[in-house]
Amino acid sequence: MKINPQFLKISKKYLFSEIEKRAAELLEKKPNADVVNLGIGDVALPLTPLVQKALAEGVEEMRKKPIGYGPGSGYSFLKQKILDVEYQKYGFGLKEIFITDGINPGICYISDLFDRDSRVGIQDPTYPLYHDLAVLLGMEKITRLPCLEKNNFIPKPPTVPLDLIYLCSPNNPTGTAMTRKDLKEWVDYAKQHKAILIFDAAYDAFIRSKDVPSSIYEIEGAKEVAIEFRSFSKTAGFTGLRLGYLILPKETGLLEYFHLRQDIKTNGVSYPVQRAGLAALSKEGRTEAMEQVNHYLRSAKEIKSLLEKRGFTCYGGVDSPYIWWKITDRDSWSFFDHLLNKFHIISIPGKGFGECGEGFVRLSCFINQETTQKALERLK
Ligand code: PLP
Repeated sequence: MKINPQFLKISKKYLFSEIEKRAAELLEKKPNADVVNLGIGDVALPLTPLVQKALAEGVEEMRKKPIGYGPGSGYSFLKQKILDVEYQKYGFGLKEIFITDGINPGICYISDLFDRDSRVGIQDPTYPLYHDLAVLLGMEKITRLPCLEKNNFIPKPPTVPLDLIYLCSPNNPTGTAMTRKDLKEWVDYAKQHKAILIFDAAYDAFIRSKDVPSSIYEIEGAKEVAIEFRSFSKTAGFTGLRLGYLILPKETGLLEYFHLRQDIKTNGVSYPVQRAGLAALSKEGRTEAMEQVNHYLRSAKEIKSLLEKRGFTCYGGVDSPYIWWKITDRDSWSFFDHLLNKFHIISIPGKGFGECGEGFVRLSCFINQETTQKALERLK
């Protein structure tokens, strides 16, 4: 047996295991430490009542009659609802929607379509998946797209041509979102270079700024070059259920290949989870989900304004549950250690999201009310 050598190129010191290790060391020294976790971006509230009910009903249906393999690209009832709620206005049809078990897998699925020789653009800092995935797939021509304070953390199209660009907006970890103008520059660039934009919109439900579009298809010409990814994870608390979708416009010329890829490699997403997704998209379901999103945004606002009152510079926390906290007196891992050991707060060092993340830590506001209060007390 020979292991795929690409695995050996991924850093062994995986960000989250290193954070867990350091938190475990603290608990060994101080077993009673009440650690406040503002690190991992996972939901902190239970499933909403409508989602719980629909999930249970889906299971009940399966108890009464056999419901076997569903369509690989998802049930029409869910795809139709997605169209009705968001995408019909852009003129999409059912064939252009694919239900997935989340954005992470969705991005991995689509990336199968592209040549290993592709020139890939990846934001820095950003969600680590895109880089690690490109390396695993053997795509080695990677151009970093710096997201720096002086550019409001928005990546600019480079002067060199790229084939495949992974864009995340609102971006994890900076919490900043691309405006219509920013996205138009990328759509124009992609059209000019016949490139594809992989647009990760995991946090679309958190967008509050008027000049930030909730879908890239608001930008003229985007259908020719952009594939959009959405998830129920952060919008409706589905991180543990697993449900997302992607929009693959026929204008990209990729539909036939992706249908083939899905036919070969997937058997779809479970029926009760798709039923739960349908409930989350109903009018009442969206109201319930939005209450949760607003709760996280309130926590972000309170924490950010406290830090600003104490004289710190922070970004994000407006169109996103993440606060990007600027550090001036030490590096991001040292500041992580300081917050952990002195205040028992877990953050994420900015460097874990890319070299350009140095100088910042990320605070996640996926926290309940009790944790928000504890965090505020300690940060004060
Ligand atoms: N994309 C971004 C930018 C994320 O931050 C996350 C999770 O933190 C994901 C995707 C994962 O989404 P999913 O749970 O739908 O796989």
